[in-house]
Amino acid sequence: MVRFMNVSKSYGRLNVISHLDFDVAEGEMVTIIGPSGSGKTTVLRALMTLETINGGVIYVDGKPLTHMPRDGVLVPADERYQRKIRSSIGMCFQHFNLFPHMTAIQNCMEGPVQVLGLSRKEALERSEELLKMVGMIDKRDQHPSRLSGGQQQRVAIARALAMRPKVMLFDEVTSALDPEVIGEVTHVIRKLVAEHNLTMIMVTHQMGFARDISDRVCFFYGGSIEEQAPPQILFTSPQRDRTKQFLSAVK
Ligand code: ATP
Repeated sequence: MVRFMNVSKSYGRLNVISHLDFDVAEGEMVTIIGPSGSGKTTVLRALMTLETINGGVIYVDGKPLTHMPRDGVLVPADERYQRKIRSSIGMCFQHFNLFPHMTAIQNCMEGPVQVLGLSRKEALERSEELLKMVGMIDKRDQHPSRLSGGQQQRVAIARALAMRPKVMLFDEVTSALDPEVIGEVTHVIRKLVAEHNLTMIMVTHQMGFARDISDRVCFFYGGSIEEQAPPQILFTSPQRDRTKQFLSAVK
């Protein structure tokens, strides 16, 4: 569903991603862990086309994201083409970025109406169903400022899902939250994993969460994958010294 082929990204002389090969299958839940600055967020930002890569190709659902086919060769993609491919990806960030002047339900309806062209009735039905799923239907008419961090994050997840993405990206969605509300958000993500065949890529610093939820954990170091394995293997018998050092430091 997602494929990075020999992808590199640098800022000036700083190589943030180097020659990265990274595949995520349809319906797979992959967690990215690693030290600060190892390029985890950059991978998600590159997928959202918020960053321009310097080398390699990224494919989403079999189509190149960064390049488009023209006369049998790949040329750099234009904005319109990228927007189309990107529409199959949803993202939730650490800071929820809800529209502050809109209620929870309006936040969820905005994209389906404005971008997908759904009628208000269709968007309302879809949004109500999703707010129910994340346990926020009671707060549908509240503005974000009246909601807790965990509640805002649950609305942000519903809003992203309202666009019916094939791939969901979660970047540190629990790290700005108070410990007592982290459980609400992790519960929603667990439910998503259990009930929907969504492909998910999640960056997290919470090893317990990564262990519980993922099919595969990728340990990033210096902009590439140092080691990857199912969580029950990576967390109990890591093979590489850097993985061992990282895991013993974060325990
Ligand atoms: P963290 O766990 O701290 O969030 P990360 O692994 O997600 O880290 P990235 O955010 O991907 O790391 O950043 C990788 C490197 O790229 C860092 O050294 C960062 O300082 C650098 N970087 C990120 N964005 C920019 C930018 N716009 N300009 C210059 N350097 C940048």
